[in-house]
Amino acid sequence: MRIGIFGGTFDPIHVGHLAAAVNAKAGANLDKVLMVVANIPWQKDGLRRVHPANERLALVKAAVSGVEGLEASDIEIRRGGESYTIDTVIDIQKNFPNDELFLIIGADVASELETWERVDDLADLVTLVIVNRPGSANPGNLGDRWNYIEVEVPSLDISSTDLRARAIEGRPLDYLIPAAAIQYIREHNLYGPGEEPE
Ligand code: ATP
Ligand code: MG
Repeated sequence: MRIGIFGGTFDPIHVGHLAAAVNAKAGANLDKVLMVVANIPWQKDGLRRVHPANERLALVKAAVSGVEGLEASDIEIRRGGESYTIDTVIDIQKNFPNDELFLIIGADVASELETWERVDDLADLVTLVIVNRPGSANPGNLGDRWNYIEVEVPSLDISSTDLRARAIEGRPLDYLIPAAAIQYIREHNLYGPGEEPE
């Protein structure tokens, strides 16, 4: 199998993530995509309040339910602590020893790769699938250490940062987040006005 790993804080998940995931799956011929919810995203730790991992996971589950080939993964939450992609890839490789692993990242993340933990090991284990993202230029040549492909996805100028600001200001989230996830947000009173702005 060809397995896609799409990691994120998903605070909250939005249709930009989902359109990227399904189009990366189709464009890179993947059998499935694991939407891996970060437990503690080390890049964001201390900079802002990140919503509890189980709430973010519940939203991802709601968002992918009924979509063939997308799965919510709690592998980083079960491992606990700070979430490093290299650890996740090693864990997934143990579960799927005969499968090929693809790491899906947006263009904004592609330009930060060199700051990641044990990046040489990571480059040995995965093929990158880089998707375009409005506001971030696609990276040029990533150099010899990476195997990578670029997949064109619909350009959706949506970010979780903007959605959190919308929620606090009482502006609509509808159609930017899948309806099932919106319903979960409403039922559990998440991302409401009353939260601290960032
Ligand atoms: P935040 O604004 O909090 O950083 P985000 O919208 O960037 O949230 P993340 O959880 O940080 O979402 O991103 C997870 C992955 O999804 C990253 O690889 C990121 O590049 C990608 N991604 C996020 N939004 C889009 C989008 N609109 N189009 C393509 N890729 C996206
Ligand atoms: Mg981001």
